[in-house]
Amino acid sequence: MKPIKFEKIRDILDIKNIDKTFCIRGWVYRTRSSGSIVFSVIRDSTGILQVTIKKGNLPEDEFSSAQKTLIESSVEIEGILKEDKRAPGGYELKVTGYKVINYAEPFPIVKDQSPEFLLDQRHLWIRSQRLTAILKIRSTIVGAIHKFFRERGYYEFDAPILQPNQCEGGSTLFEVKYYDSKTFLSQSWQLYAEAAIFALEKVYNMGPTFRAERSKTSRHLSEFWMAEMEAAWIDLEGLTEIAKEEVRYILNSVSKENTSELEILGRDREKLKSIADKDFPTITYTKAIEILNKKENLNVEWGKDLRTIEENALMQHFDTPVIVTNYPLEIMAFYKPPDPKDPKTALCFDMIATEGYGEIIGGSQRSLDVQYMKKRLLDSGENVENYQWYFDLRKYGSVPHSGYGLGVERVVSWICGIDNIKDSIPFPRTMLRFKP
Ligand code: ATP
Ligand code: MG
Repeated sequence: MKPIKFEKIRDILDIKNIDKTFCIRGWVYRTRSSGSIVFSVIRDSTGILQVTIKKGNLPEDEFSSAQKTLIESSVEIEGILKEDKRAPGGYELKVTGYKVINYAEPFPIVKDQSPEFLLDQRHLWIRSQRLTAILKIRSTIVGAIHKFFRERGYYEFDAPILQPNQCEGGSTLFEVKYYDSKTFLSQSWQLYAEAAIFALEKVYNMGPTFRAERSKTSRHLSEFWMAEMEAAWIDLEGLTEIAKEEVRYILNSVSKENTSELEILGRDREKLKSIADKDFPTITYTKAIEILNKKENLNVEWGKDLRTIEENALMQHFDTPVIVTNYPLEIMAFYKPPDPKDPKTALCFDMIATEGYGEIIGGSQRSLDVQYMKKRLLDSGENVENYQWYFDLRKYGSVPHSGYGLGVERVVSWICGIDNIKDSIPFPRTMLRFKP
């Protein structure tokens, strides 16, 4: 085979240049042989294409190598494009040249294997069509988040991953040996972002976040990616508007860029698009409890956090994500301030996704009252000395400011329609798994 230019499979299928010779390279996705003919499907990062290898159409040694290649072998192929209604995509290559780059050993993954086995084989399973589609959508989502904030004048700002303080409660901290001392892995970028707003005013970041979640739910990872923003001069209402706009922006990006991936995942693109076109309602926590108790006949006590079942029951009443504000102050983190109009509640919100995907964003206005925050920290057994640097921020030109965090994997799961959050990240880390 002469060294020629290699085409991407999607380009071949898009241009449909029949009877023209093309070269492709990729991996054997499926293959079966019967006598003098081998039918294979080749995949590359852009798609799959059927190839028909017929004895006599290519050199004898190349034909016999095609006969013995197993799936996942890497190959370079030359062939003539033909129409074939039965082939995936409606086209196939009539092969005239076949070169094996690496003969694969028998692939350990076959049909109907358990989720745990597939997680053990994750390094191989990420090449499956399903995970490839999810990874492409994840890439679109991550790109859209960067674009969204940069277009609006936000600076990307990095905080340390090794942090001396908790932000979201001591119980989920991962402790790390730090020389002769100890420190923790970041639970949030927020406290450092609050220092940054005095220089940059509007900042965002997307980074790894670590929480030792002891409950094994289908929504919690121990290591996940959080896309956070923090901005000066913004109150709760302004904040929720940015959150809604960001989620709509993400939905529009995916529905524009990932049509074929959504199809592979069986996800209705039109439905996602229609959510992006609607306004998302805002209700208070108190109103949510009223809906749950009056319309859903539940018996939820005011003051308790909404659990998965309550969030799901609430979302029966909505066909777009919903913003729930003013959760009870007592169950909120120390930095969320009381609402002067309703001081039992905090100036905070969660955004809850449709279809039972639960909370995708959590955010709040930030307290400016050092005495209040000290008391909250002391009540939860924290050493306030460690927060002196954070309280300094309230001493030198303090301004109203707000921010939120969006769980990247929660959004990927929702948009892709994934049952378990583990499939929204390439190598999931949970309480029970930190390999491969
Ligand atoms: P939850 O109540 O679901 O545990 P949270 O209130 O602890 O969430 P926040 O501290 O508000 O969450 O974090 C911001 C966002 O980060 C959440 O809205 C969610 O999308 C995401 N998130 C939080 N914890 C996890 C986790 N363990 N795994 C994946 N995503 C998470
Ligand atoms: Mg949590």
